[in-house]
Formats: sequence, structure tokens, C-alpha cells
Amino acid sequence: MKPTIFVTRRLPQPPLDRLAEVFDVSINPDNRVLLKQEVMDGVQGKDALLCLLTDAIDAEVMDAEPNLRVLSNYAVGYNNIDVQAATERKLPVTNTPGVLTDTSADLAFALILASARRIAEGDAFTRAGKFDGWGPLMMLGYDVYGKTLGILGMGRIGTAVAKRAQGFDMRVLYTNRSARPEAEQKYNAQKVDLETLLRESDYLSIHVPMSKETRHMIGAEQLAAMKPTAFLINTARGPIVDEAALVEALRSGSIAGAGLDVYEEEPKLAPGLAECENAVLIPHLGSATIETRTKMAQLAVENAIAVIEGRRPAHLVNPEVLDS
Ligand code: NAP
Repeated sequence: MKPTIFVTRRLPQPPLDRLAEVFDVSINPDNRVLLKQEVMDGVQGKDALLCLLTDAIDAEVMDAEPNLRVLSNYAVGYNNIDVQAATERKLPVTNTPGVLTDTSADLAFALILASARRIAEGDAFTRAGKFDGWGPLMMLGYDVYGKTLGILGMGRIGTAVAKRAQGFDMRVLYTNRSARPEAEQKYNAQKVDLETLLRESDYLSIHVPMSKETRHMIGAEQLAAMKPTAFLINTARGPIVDEAALVEALRSGSIAGAGLDVYEEEPKLAPGLAECENAVLIPHLGSATIETRTKMAQLAVENAIAVIEGRRPAHLVNPEVLDS
């Protein structure tokens, strides 16, 4: 008899075929996020769960099936899982880092360019038939090349954004818990405190994970410390930014604009955000390419298979459960 796995949403097919070689697979047939109760029903009698960042996996879900042996998350971020509760239950949690780094960095850079050069606004303007000829003062934006890029969280993705900034002759500043000598050497990046990062950045791009420490790390006070010509780019997680305070900063012009891929109460937007023309808003597309979503699925599948076959998975969030 094969072990059993519940997959909370359909993924690219080739990795699912691989999963079926090892597991008896049950998949949510609907193209929607499941309710918590539906996830709890889905895991019953299963050995493994393959879940997404849109599934909140707390102690109650874990206890719905005490024989669960692995939680394989289809994302690098794992703030949707109560990792402490999983560790207390000796339940390995895995994630999919690395394979989405460049794709996510490309998207962060796309938002820098789109917000500075008013790409989305210009597209809507042209489609609406409002373009009646070139104008010397029409839809002026801000330069990107030669400006200062501030990176909050110089991990895999932050470093990949710094790499891209080299092609735009940007000065790179960063704030991170630990120093990153390699990024300093390779990309001429300079480590500064958050206050300096806010004060000096023309583009501030967020790449820290969501945690108790990073929740509302950028609020009214931090936005007020930014230049009125600066842009805030968030492709990490919504709750890192106080979205109501951001709407206020965008409305009052205390910053020039924003490029957002993630939202505090996704998929809802804070009141007033959709009306801010100086914000480019996209629906959580950081890793959304065919190639990358397939690689993420392969990794999530192999992580689940490794645990079930008694091997160490490539990416384990709570190694203490296998080390103890
Ligand atoms: P990573 O390699 O772990 O990098 C995170 C960095 O943030 C690390 O360098 C870490 O520094 C730093 N950091 C953590 N907490 C901090 C704090 N309180 N203050 C300052 N620095 C802090 O992760 P990654 O692969 O780059 O991914 C980053 C995040 O991007 C993920 O957690 C995920 O939420 C998000 N993401 C979003 C999308 C999307 O679809 N929009 C796609 C991929 C990823 P230390 O190493 O010194 O702790």
C-alpha cells in the first residue's frame, strides 16, 4: 500500500505525476483556496500534506490527523505554518527556497521600473484612447539608473535584486540582521541601519521574511522618514508594511509611489489603495512563471517523498525534529 498525501490545490502536472509514483494522491479538485475545515477534512487518514502559502496550517489542522508525517509547503516563505506547533509534534516542515530567487528578483525589479516610469498608468491611458500625441510634460516619472536602491533583507532574493541593480549603475544600500560580505564585494553593497536606509533610498525594496519581528516594520514613522521622491517596493509579504499608513503616505505625497505584489489582508486591499494612481498593484505574482512554478512543485514533491522514504529533505525549516 502506498502512503497517502493531500494536495490543497492543483500544481503543474509533471511533478504531480512524480508524486503519484510514490503516493496515493488526493487533490483539491476546485481552483480555489480551501477553508480551514476543508483542509482538516482533507488530511484525515493521510500521511502527508502538500500545502500553499494561502493555507493557514495551525495546531488544530495538525491535530486533525495525528499520524501526519510531513508538511511540505509550496513556497519559500512559511509564515502560513505554525512551525513551533509542528516542531512540538515532531512534524517536519519543508519549503522551496532557491528555485524562485531570480524569478522573484526579476519581478521586484519590474515593479521598480513600472512604478518609476508609470508603466501601468501609461498602459491604461493609452488603451482608454487618451493619448493624443507626445508631450514634453506628459506623464513624467523618475529615473532609475544611477539612483540609490535600498534593500531590506539581503538574503537570496535581496542579493539577486542587488545584482540586477548593477546593470542600472545604482548605489546599493542594505539592512539585514547579519552582514553579507559577498554582496558587499560583488555588488558594492553597503550595510546601513534601517534609519539610514529609509533616509537615503530612492527605491526601497523589501525582502525580509514575515515574522513577529518584521510585522509592520514599515509603518507611518518609517514612511515619513523616506524621501518624498522615493518609491516603496514590496514583493515579500503584505503585513511587513502597515498598509493603511502606506495609503496615507501615497495620498499625501510623503512618498512618490509604490509597487506592490503582496497585501496585508490578501486578497483584500486596504481602503483607498486601489484609488492611488501612484501605486502599481499586481496580484502576488513573484514566482509566477511556468518554469519556476514547475521547479517549486518538483521541490515540494521531492521534499515530501524524502521524508516519507526516511531520507532528509533538501529543505527543512525545523531541522531539530530530525536531529533530536
Ligand atoms: P532569505 O534568503 O531567507 O532572506 C531573508 C533575509 O532577511 C535574510 O538575509 C535575513 O537575514 C533577513 N532578515 C530576516 N529577519 C530580519 C529582520 N528582522 N531584520 C533584518 N533582516 C532580517 O529569503 P528569500 O529566499 O530571499 O525570500 C525572502 C522572502 O520573500 C520570503 O520569506 C517570502 O516571504 C518572500 N517571497 C515572496 C514571493 C512572492 O511571490 N511575492 C516569492 C518568493 C519569496 P539573516 O540571514 O541575517 O537572518
